[in-house]
Amino acid sequence: MGFDHETVSLAVVIQKQVHSKKSGVMFSCNPITNDCSEIVIEASWGLGEAIVSGEVTPDEYIVDKNSLQIKNVIINEKRVQTIYDEELRQTVTKEVPEELRRERVLSDEEVITLASLAIRLEKHYGKPQDIEFAIDDTGIYIVQTRAITTVGKTVSPEKKEIKGKVLLKGIPASPGVGTGKARLVLGPEDFDKFQEGEVLVAKMTNPDFEPLMAKSSAIVTDEGGANCHAAIVSRELGKPCVVGTGEATRILKDGMIITVDGSHGVVYEGSIEIEEDKREVLESTRLTSFKPITATKIMLIATHSGVVKKYGHLVDGIGLLRLEFLIAQGGKHPVWFLNNKKLEEYTDFLVEKLREILSLMDPKPVIIRTLDMRTDEYRNLEGGENDPKEANPMLGWHGIRRSLDQPELFEAELQAYEQLIKDYGFKNVWIMFPFVVSWKEVKRAIKYVKRTGISPNKDAKIGVMVETPAAALTIEDIIRRTRIKFISFGTNDLTQLTLGVDRNNEIVQKIHSEKHPAVLKQIRRVIRIAKKHNVYTSICGQAGSDPEYAEKLVRYGIDSISVNPDAIELIRERVFRAEKKLILEGIRKKII
Ligand code: PEP
Ligand code: MG
Repeated sequence: MGFDHETVSLAVVIQKQVHSKKSGVMFSCNPITNDCSEIVIEASWGLGEAIVSGEVTPDEYIVDKNSLQIKNVIINEKRVQTIYDEELRQTVTKEVPEELRRERVLSDEEVITLASLAIRLEKHYGKPQDIEFAIDDTGIYIVQTRAITTVGKTVSPEKKEIKGKVLLKGIPASPGVGTGKARLVLGPEDFDKFQEGEVLVAKMTNPDFEPLMAKSSAIVTDEGGANCHAAIVSRELGKPCVVGTGEATRILKDGMIITVDGSHGVVYEGSIEIEEDKREVLESTRLTSFKPITATKIMLIATHSGVVKKYGHLVDGIGLLRLEFLIAQGGKHPVWFLNNKKLEEYTDFLVEKLREILSLMDPKPVIIRTLDMRTDEYRNLEGGENDPKEANPMLGWHGIRRSLDQPELFEAELQAYEQLIKDYGFKNVWIMFPFVVSWKEVKRAIKYVKRTGISPNKDAKIGVMVETPAAALTIEDIIRRTRIKFISFGTNDLTQLTLGVDRNNEIVQKIHSEKHPAVLKQIRRVIRIAKKHNVYTSICGQAGSDPEYAEKLVRYGIDSISVNPDAIELIRERVFRAEKKLILEGIRKKII
């Protein structure tokens, strides 16, 4: 391969090749139904490569684990096989001879022998196994076995074969698959053209696009990273979304039928079928029948009442209600109310919208985040056109700093909370300040809260987002000096600001990682300090919807995790297991 061996040290593993005539995979528990009384075996001709890569639809055998009876056999058409070519001295993919295509691959005897091996492997490792096997003239070889631990994790896209021309690749931003006509929406002048069920193709979205996003079958953008506007709203709405493709608006044309795979960040030509990942299926099937109760609260990230209606009953509260999303639904920028001296109307609008969500969730908490409008995202709302043009809006005039600069607006907003608490009697209002960098800001903000007539932490719990390194580093001061009752990690901004990675810039997204030790260290430390002061800890950034991350947070001792609707069950399950593990570890430590 032309490596320079002076500078690169290479090692090559040499293994015996099993010239398998047949091969396949088996699961010692049924991965679709999660039924551990069944073993599932898939087999096809030649080497296992064709099955693992998804090039072939294998035969399927279901075996009863107790009696070793074969319960079901499905013979599929196996068109291709991977075999070793003696002359070329390499593996090649070839067509399966016509007479073998619909022939059953495994005999009853082979199925039963394999099933017995699956049972032995499961016993040996003490966990359900995902096994690969190969059969040649000399017998059966087990070439790999591993625990089925990756519940809910997606298999990497390159492992699955999808027949379709790839038009674009980007950043997977919201899972699922959507098919429809592409519709380029380059600005408001294109809004009317957009039809229900089409795929929204844009450079980037902003709140004006939200009605179109709600009607779309999927969303594709040129720009953005996994936590840009398009990504966040798509996840809330449950629409498949691929962002940061670089050239969607150039490659895709109006009317083209396309399929968007939001789980893997790929856009295909035409309407193609993309099989759901077995592990994803496993996750959802297992969870419909089993709803674990967790000590760590599972909250929802939601602002649209439709989403709250659909999922509210499945969670312990709303962990993040982005007020600006709610305002965008009304089409008018808060500044419009300010400039037109219609602040009462602003308050009324907020009361009306929030009342619906608070009563849907009552008595479970709803964490309302005070206004966090960035100047670039909302200028298309009526009255927003005069917002300053900032070079770095992400680092600009938004969050609590802006509310403190526009106190009339802030007070009108707080009036809405006051009315909801006092006039409507809601006890589930929690108020959270975004983009905080110092205790002084929090103290000033609380003064406004008090002035409105809300008694902090009596009428409504008061908390802050920890989404700047400044807030993370000075959290003890913030807690001590302001007596806040909760904090919530905004990992989208915390990661952006810790790693210096603009959330909206697709070029640097590869560096964006909430798992960077610098981010994790801050989170761990903040939880430790918050616990010491009896302050409730939560997360509302996207990282909470990642099962591995959630598990880490449970270990750190977080009190609640906010997730997107599609991740509720997955995270609940993972949190449940993490808690159980922790308890066991604790007990074992005591015993030993
Ligand atoms: C965050 O920064 O993680 C967060 C939840 O806030 P937003 O995504 O609205 O900036
Ligand atoms: Mg943020």
